[in-house]
Amino acid sequence: MKLLAGKVALITGGSRGIGAAIVRRMVEEGANVAFTYLSSAEKANDLAAGLTNQYGVQVQAYGSNAADFAQAETLVGDVMRDFGKIDILVNNAGITRDNLMLRMTEEQWDEVINTNLKSVFNLTKHALRPMLKAKSGSIINMSSIVGVTGNAGQANYAASKAGIFGFTKSVAKEVGSRSIRCNAIAPGFIETEMTEALDEKTREAYFASIPMKRFGKGEEVANVCVFLGADMSAYVSGQTISVCGALNC
Ligand code: NAP
Repeated sequence: MKLLAGKVALITGGSRGIGAAIVRRMVEEGANVAFTYLSSAEKANDLAAGLTNQYGVQVQAYGSNAADFAQAETLVGDVMRDFGKIDILVNNAGITRDNLMLRMTEEQWDEVINTNLKSVFNLTKHALRPMLKAKSGSIINMSSIVGVTGNAGQANYAASKAGIFGFTKSVAKEVGSRSIRCNAIAPGFIETEMTEALDEKTREAYFASIPMKRFGKGEEVANVCVFLGADMSAYVSGQTISVCGALNC
């Protein structure tokens, strides 16, 4: 029996990187999957069509800005119309706009906070309504070990990811009595376009500090999403699971 058979997952930022790996792994485990993108329409639609053909489940891509409250409301309405329910919400969409504090602009701060943290509020707020009605659901928020450790040049990113921890624990306490769970994942250094953008010196410094002496793969983060979305984690809530090759321990 597949771990997510019959479940519906909504994943933000599923067109590339970790999000695309989550889409793929959840489909492989039998879920019907709705996922979003911001600008990669072709990539997203190709991924949805390919997985639908291969696995025979419903996979659909939606263009929706997770940072926009009204767009999040419309998205949840569209997914409820197209899929009928939302069992799993993965708040994965995220960006970096790195700069040292003295050079960081207000725009860089706002963009990162809105995309990485406000988006988690936007989607959770709207997806909670159908979950509360169903008296079940699993919300998974993509944080980062940078939210725990901080990182020079990433005050905006670290603040957004640290904010997710407090949000996750609060929501878990608020809706636990309705059998809705809320957890966070804190990846370390995962090979995606986000980390490809870093210069060689920074990559080398990260590499040297990872006890397992390798970077992580999107699929390895996606596997933890499958666990948290599946019924086998039914008593796990309000927690953060690091996926970081022992970087954060
Ligand atoms: P990525 O390769 O840059 O992909 C980002 C994804 O988010 C894309 O699908 C992008 O859509 C989407 N996105 C960006 N802004 C959006 C918005 N406003 N609304 C909707 N979708 C949006 O990033 P990644 O490395 O896979 O990271 C995924 C998540 O993991 C992020 O939250 C990131 O902070 C977190 N994380 C990553 C690492 C790492 O080492 N890679 C480590 C820790 C945490 P488009 O394709 O349309 O642009």
